[in-house]
Amino acid sequence: MVINFAMEKYINNRIKLIYKTIHRQKLNKDVKRELLSKRKGDVIETVSNEVEEWANERKQEIEELKKTELYRREFLGNVSHELKTPLFNIQGFVLTLLDGGIHDKGINTTFLQKTQKNIERMITIVEDLEIISRLETGELSPLFTNFSIVSLARDVMDLLEPKATERNIKLSFASDYNDSMIVNADKEKIRTVLSNLILNSIKYGINSGRTKISIYDMDENYLIEVSDNGVGIEANHIPRLFERFYRIDKHRSRSDGGSGLGLAIVKHILEAHHQTINVRSSIGIGSTFSFTLKKA
Ligand code: ADP
Repeated sequence: MVINFAMEKYINNRIKLIYKTIHRQKLNKDVKRELLSKRKGDVIETVSNEVEEWANERKQEIEELKKTELYRREFLGNVSHELKTPLFNIQGFVLTLLDGGIHDKGINTTFLQKTQKNIERMITIVEDLEIISRLETGELSPLFTNFSIVSLARDVMDLLEPKATERNIKLSFASDYNDSMIVNADKEKIRTVLSNLILNSIKYGINSGRTKISIYDMDENYLIEVSDNGVGIEANHIPRLFERFYRIDKHRSRSDGGSGLGLAIVKHILEAHHQTINVRSSIGIGSTFSFTLKKA
């Protein structure tokens, strides 16, 4: 009887010890006190529950790490792939020029121009990646000022007018907005957001199409919409659209000089403003990108 009691006490104490070892860092004081005052049966049950909870937490952490690792690998693969194409193009042009092409008036200037275009493409990719990484580290945090979202949208539309005209696309406001719609945001970064969205509406628009900018008053915020009647986006692509380098039509995007990073930049900028972006789209009908900004 005495031996039995001593054994039970011994086992009980060992379990408490194991339990404490596992949770040395995490166990909070209340749980610890509660555990020390428990009887054997309760202790075993508590230990079992806590260990199960602990195992689940670790499992979730491992899943997260695996996801991050996959994302990191995919991202590195994408970067090298994106840079490889222009690099090999440049190498081809330069080798041909060195092989005597430099003296051939029929190709020397065009090959140098093509080399220049490919260098520009690499610069765009590297600069866009740099912007994203600086937004991610918080180095490029927003500089909040008050400004008219209507006049900023008008500036961007004026600047992109020549590009729209090339495709005979009409850029306009959905209604006659008053310049007094003032937001509190980082003006230059929101200029980038509007430029990227309007430029996309032109790139993925249809010839003789139209892009409309709408602004809605929503209590504390203004809702800004960029709407096109272009090619549209299939629903299954929408969740991945804001990932770096994600493109639906790679060829079309590249031939238009796109880095596949525009929407990733847009998302990062709006996240830094604690705002979100939404997309509605139908194939063959068009797409609407909308985001909110705080009123001044
Ligand atoms: P890029 O335009 O440089 O490829 P983005 O990040 O701006 O990169 O866009 C990612 C992809 O989303 C584009 O390649 C395109 O397939 C799709 N997309 C973006 N905007 C539109 C739009 N307005 N209409 C249809 N597709 C779009």
